[in-house]
Amino acid sequence: MTTLQRIELQCPVCDTRFISQSVVATNSFGGKRTDFHERAAGTQPLPYLVHMCSRCGYTGAERDFTEDVDPSPLVKEHVWNELAPTVSAATLRPTDGPGTGSTGLAGSAGSAGGTGSEQSSGSGKAASAKGVGASGAVSGGELRVPGSAKYEAAAKVAEWQSMEPRYIADFYLRAAWCCVDEGDVEAERYFRRKAVWSFQRALESYDGVAREERAVLTYLVGELWRRIGHTAAAIRWFDRVPEEVMDPNAQRWVLDAARQQRECPREWFG
Ligand SMILES: [Zn+2]
Repeated sequence: MTTLQRIELQCPVCDTRFISQSVVATNSFGGKRTDFHERAAGTQPLPYLVHMCSRCGYTGAERDFTEDVDPSPLVKEHVWNELAPTVSAATLRPTDGPGTGSTGLAGSAGSAGGTGSEQSSGSGKAASAKGVGASGAVSGGELRVPGSAKYEAAAKVAEWQSMEPRYIADFYLRAAWCCVDEGDVEAERYFRRKAVWSFQRALESYDGVAREERAVLTYLVGELWRRIGHTAAAIRWFDRVPEEVMDPNAQRWVLDAARQQRECPREWFG
């Protein structure tokens, strides 16, 4: 089972102290999907591996809330302009009422192919907040925000901080995985696209991906396109896996996985 604990964090953008939940222990007994989405038996840990400030919406992993983290004025401005409104809007919503969780997500982002036109648009995934108090000691309440919305916010913060595409891609991939558990198919596709573009950018840059990691990420790009429904792109990327393999013995499984997903796709490993 997954064990959670309440933690207190201090936001490096607005200094608010707030309560969040973090993962003490988890497991992988739920199997692994062919896009590396590892499932736990019981509560899924993913939504609790990122934390969102209940006042300004700044979001990141626990290490992004340590004392030595000092976001630049520009990053702070982005947070106040783009994340804070979703948090304060959420405080006006009835908790757990109908319509919270996933609303109007990426309605125009449905066409296949990835033109890049969605690049700067948000997912529209509304935060649903509970007990966000006035600033002060600990604001007490815990934000009730879907995991996907937290990972999207974390990805944006990482983009504003000019982090590597490889790093940003992971946040979007995790947002997509959360959408699977949230039952939000449209949002899942939207975040898979954001992830696949970032992984592709990482693979295109000279040293964006470690040499020994290129084959597996090339496979993952193929698998993301397959799950988005873009078969031609998926096949193109699966076909590139052999040329990225460095050690055919150790990486045999990547070659096998690419061939399998190209010819007779499976949803789960094992
Ligand atoms: Zn804050």
